[in-house]
Amino acid sequence: MIKAMYVHIPFCNNICSYCDFPKIYYQEDLIDKYLDTLNYELEKVYKKEMIDTIYIGGGTPSSLSLKQTIKLFEILKKVKKSKNIEFTIEANFDSITEEKLDLYKKYGINRISFGLETTCNKHLKFLNRTLSKKKVKQVIDYANKMGIKNINIDLIYGMPKERIDELEQDLDFILSLDITHISTYSLIIEEHTKLFINNIENIDEDLDYKMYEIIRKKLKENNFYQYEISNFSKKGYESRHNLTYWNNEKYYGIGLGASSYINDRRITNTRSINKYLEKKFIYTEEKLTIDDKCIYEMILGLRKIKGIKKEEFFKKYNCHIEEKFDIMNLKDKKLLEENNGYIFIPQDKLYIQNEILLSFVGGSSNGKRE
Ligand code: SF4
Repeated sequence: MIKAMYVHIPFCNNICSYCDFPKIYYQEDLIDKYLDTLNYELEKVYKKEMIDTIYIGGGTPSSLSLKQTIKLFEILKKVKKSKNIEFTIEANFDSITEEKLDLYKKYGINRISFGLETTCNKHLKFLNRTLSKKKVKQVIDYANKMGIKNINIDLIYGMPKERIDELEQDLDFILSLDITHISTYSLIIEEHTKLFINNIENIDEDLDYKMYEIIRKKLKENNFYQYEISNFSKKGYESRHNLTYWNNEKYYGIGLGASSYINDRRITNTRSINKYLEKKFIYTEEKLTIDDKCIYEMILGLRKIKGIKKEEFFKKYNCHIEEKFDIMNLKDKKLLEENNGYIFIPQDKLYIQNEILLSFVGGSSNGKRE
C-alpha cells in the first residue's frame, strides 16, 4: 500500500553554488506547461490510494506565483488525503509572502520546510544565497499565528573557513524561532556544482566532526531530540514523510528528477526538462530482488537513531536479520548495538555512519554524513 507522495517543483529564482538538486531558473512561460505535465504524470501513475503524507519539494515551490500555486494545489486535489495527513511544502524566505502562506493554509498545508542554511553574510555569499533575519522572524511568526505550527529549518554547516562561533550564532538564531524541526547538513561539494567547478574542497574532517557534535549537543540541550543522522525535532514532530523513506516504505514521486518506490521498483525520473515536458518521464528503473530490498532496509533504516526493529525485519522478509547480514561481526567491532529488539548505530559512531552503512553493500566511504 502506498501512503506517501513526493511532488517536485524545480523552479528557483536563484541558483545556489552547492546545489545538486534537479532545478532550473524560474521561467514564467514554462511553468504552466510543467504543471500540465505534472498533472498528466499524476493521473498516469497514481492509483487512488489514500495518501498519508505529501511533500512538495524543489527547487523552490514558493517561487511560484499565487496563480501558479493555486493551479498546483488544484492538481493535487485529485490525491485522496487521509484525515491526519502531513502536508508539507518547501519554501525560501526570499520568495515567501503572507499571501502565499494564506494560500498554503487554505489548501491544507500543515508543515513548511524553510531553507535558511546560514545567517552569516560571508557564508551566504559563498552559497550564493541571501537572507534577512527580520523577514525570517516575521514569516515564522505569521505562519504560527495562522496555525501552521509544524515548521522545519534547514541548516548547512562546514563551509570553508566557517568558525565554531559562527555555527553557534546560526544555532542560537534558529533556536530563537518558534519551530518544531531542524535538518542539518554538512556541506558536501557535489560534482557539477559551481563549488566543484571552482575547486572548493570539503573542510577538514576533524572540524566537521567537532561541528556535528556541537550541533547534537546544543539541539539536545534545547529539547530537539535527534531521530535521524541529520534530523532533530520536538517530540511528536518528526517528519512522517521522510520516515517513509527511512522505513523503506513505498512512495510516489512525481515531477522532474523525482524518485518513486512502487511495485518493487525504484524509479528515477529524468532531470532533463525537455524530456520531462515531452512526457518521457523515466530515467532509470531498478527492479529489486529480496536481497536488494534487505540492503535498502539496512542502509535506510540505520539512519534512524532508534534503528531497525528485528521483528519488523522478520515480518517483511520472512528471515532473521542475522541470516542476511553479519550483524555479530559489526557488534563485535562496536559499530552496531542491540537493545530492546532494535539494531542501531551507537551514538559515538554516528559520525562514521556512511562507512558502517556501506559495509552492507561493500565499498568504502569518506565517512562524512549526507
Ligand atoms: S539549493 Fe534549493 S534554492 Fe538553491 S538552487 Fe538548489 S533547489 Fe534552488
